[in-house]
Order: sequence, then C-alpha cells, then structure tokens
Amino acid sequence: MRFVLDSSAILNNFQPKTGDEIVIPSSVAEELKSHEGREKLETLISLGAVIEKPLQRYGARTKEIAEDVGELGRLSDVDIEVIALALEKKACVVSDDYSIENVCRYAGIDFLPISTEGIKKVFRYRYRCTGCGRYYKRYYEECPVCGSTLRARRA
Ligand SMILES: [Zn+2]
Repeated sequence: MRFVLDSSAILNNFQPKTGDEIVIPSSVAEELKSHEGREKLETLISLGAVIEKPLQRYGARTKEIAEDVGELGRLSDVDIEVIALALEKKACVVSDDYSIENVCRYAGIDFLPISTEGIKKVFRYRYRCTGCGRYYKRYYEECPVCGSTLRARRA
C-alpha cells in the first residue's frame, strides 16, 4: 500500500509494513526540525521512504476541493501539500488532523487516522552497516567507520 504521511503520523511512529511505499511531502520533512522529528524522519528514509513535492496542478485541485467542503481556511500549506501528494500518487493519507480527514473523505482519498490506529507501541530501531556489519543506535548517512550505507532493523 502507498501512504502519504503528515508530521503527526511521523511523530506518532507510523510503522510501514514490508512492501508499503511511503511518500513524505517536502514541506512535512522541513517541518520536522526537532531532534526527535529528524530522527524519526531519517528512520523512515532508511526504510525506503521518499520525499517529494506534489505537482502544482494537484495543489490547485486540492485547494478547490478544500474550498468546496469549507476547510480551506483551516488547512496550512503543509496540509494542502499532504492531500495534493495523495491525490497525485493515489495514496492513503496518514494523519490525525480532522480537516485533512474531512477533505480526504470528501474527495474520496483513503485516510488512516493515526490516533485511532492503535499505534501505541513504539518500535526501536538499530542500524546495521551493510559493509562492516557494525550496529549503531542512531542513523548515519554513512557508516562512521567504513563509509557504507546503514540499514534499519527493528531491535
Ligand atoms: Zn561500516
């Protein structure tokens, strides 16, 4: 299944399953500036998540839909990018935002509420170097010892 995540989904530890495709709007990635947010974002990227910006026409279409349903004033630019990317990618939105949910329902976009999904259990990850096999508690773009890429594993 293909999912578009907003910041709340990432901060609440949305867990992709094997074979899931994760798309994160670039504005959501920028929003996750806290240490905790960055770590969670990096974990998802190490699991294969991609960061993308929706095409402009999907942004415009999303604003029309939001205006139709009376939610435009309650949506931030980031929210609009989340919905627009889901429209473009035919993906399911994961969020705990009521206005986003409302627009998705109206537009026939799949929506998964993060708060009621029961994601209470926090998974911890460790990162294993694909080169030298060392384990790390945090993610690095390159292994500090040998420079190979790291892969996330559930601890
Ligand atoms: Zn290494």
